[in-house]
Amino acid sequence: MSFSLAGKTALVTGANTGIGQAIAVAMGEAGATVICAGRSSCAETVGMISDARELTLDLADPMAARDVFAAQTVDILVNNAGIIRRNDSVDFTEADWDDVMDVNLKAVFFTCQAFAKAVLARKGTGKIVNIASLLSFQGGIRVPSYTASKHGVAGLTKILTNEWAAKGINVNAIAPGYIETNNTAALRADPERNKAILDRIPAGRWGAAKDIAGTAVFLSSPAADYVHGAVFNVDGGWLAR
Ligand code: NAP
Repeated sequence: MSFSLAGKTALVTGANTGIGQAIAVAMGEAGATVICAGRSSCAETVGMISDARELTLDLADPMAARDVFAAQTVDILVNNAGIIRRNDSVDFTEADWDDVMDVNLKAVFFTCQAFAKAVLARKGTGKIVNIASLLSFQGGIRVPSYTASKHGVAGLTKILTNEWAAKGINVNAIAPGYIETNNTAALRADPERNKAILDRIPAGRWGAAKDIAGTAVFLSSPAADYVHGAVFNVDGGWLAR
């Protein structure tokens, strides 16, 4: 039972597709009520879960979630929404820097803040799972704002742990490896990059979105009550090379 999420409500950002959709479905399978948040319709995801509802949330406004957690009790927050822009660093634009930092980092911080305010106000407990990246540890290529934002997500996970662990909130992150979603479509379409990536993954395959979901359920469950400030790589062994 320590892996059960029965009786808990989870909010997943970017739940309409990819990793967010897989996490939302797994949360539902573990017994949670799931709030599927997205800038696009999450109707498909809601239809895959027995107890779920939709919430429109466009995190291009990093403060978009400010009132969400005061309006309803949420026990689990998964900050999954994220974007990526690719260009050589010498040509990288300010817009590509700001857009990525707003969604991937600033919105993550202020959504965590809004969630924690509500949990602390009701003297409750909560679990936060941030979606980081291998680029929380490595530099990547042609993705400067993405890499900076994901290093930032790892740092935020640790600073928020230091402030909130003793107050009943677990803050952890998952660093997915190379997963087959919209985010990586351009890499998979480039035969050279695709081969270079596959050759270095010990598991010998790209990850599927559902490969990330079990770790998200674990980190949201009572089984992870003493797990704080961890950035878990779920990467087919990539970082072991
Ligand atoms: P994806 O299929 O592109 O999904 C990204 C999600 O974020 C979508 O639901 C997207 O909504 C949402 N989103 C983007 N901008 C938003 C905004 N302004 N407001 C609300 N939602 C917004 O890619 P994914 O791979 O599943 O990515 C999910 C997370 O995993 C991201 O944080 C990504 O950085 C991270 N990640 C992915 C990989 C990988 O290999 N795929 C590796 C490491 C980390 P729309 O569909 O409306 O755009």
